[in-house]
Amino acid sequence: MMRVIGLTGGIGTGKTTVSNYLASHYNLPVLDADIYAREAVKVGSPILGEIVKRYGADILLPDGTLDRRKLGNIVFNSPEERRWLEQQIHPYVRDRMIEKMQALNSHPTVVLVVPLLFEVGMTALCTETWVVYCSEQHQLQRLIKRDRLTLEQAQARITSQMPIQAKCDRADVVLDNSSTLEDLLKQVDTHLKIKN
Ligand code: ATP
Repeated sequence: MMRVIGLTGGIGTGKTTVSNYLASHYNLPVLDADIYAREAVKVGSPILGEIVKRYGADILLPDGTLDRRKLGNIVFNSPEERRWLEQQIHPYVRDRMIEKMQALNSHPTVVLVVPLLFEVGMTALCTETWVVYCSEQHQLQRLIKRDRLTLEQAQARITSQMPIQAKCDRADVVLDNSSTLEDLLKQVDTHLKIKN
């Protein structure tokens, strides 16, 4: 049976750092929900049409693509709007993931990076779940630095999500990314080997 690692975490806790390492160091195929979520709203897609219907053409940039910053500010401040958006995008992402996994069925191990792994029940596709955790202080620092957010914006993004502790409670593996990169990658090595 294929080993399917469902990788998740909070915003900015280090999912991409871990998945890049699994891809580059272990040559594992990585399917990234964010990539399919972006694909779901590309110019001309039915889902982008629904978004424009709901928020008006102001939600688009001059070149006709989605203004993600604007949409982000709407959904990160409104649970109801966030739920609506997730309901549009999630089925598409799920279908694409299943399709890609079927194409990869000769691989012993694949990695699914899914920020909303627990929230949308995507755990059903995985044989194990990994959460990348870090302290909220680190999370804030890294978000502010990487995305040029204010403290308030970073805080709103964090509190809009399922609490990281709830994710840790549900996960098979918790990777603690509150220290150095090296320390994080060592934990990855350990957990990857456990079942290999
Ligand atoms: P998002 O949810 O926004 O997609 P993510 O969970 O994929 O984020 P990363 O992009 O991997 O998180 O990491 C967030 C930021 O923190 C990046 O700029 C990354 O380089 C940095 N970072 C990750 N781990 C560490 C670490 N141990 N020490 C210092 N910086 C780190």
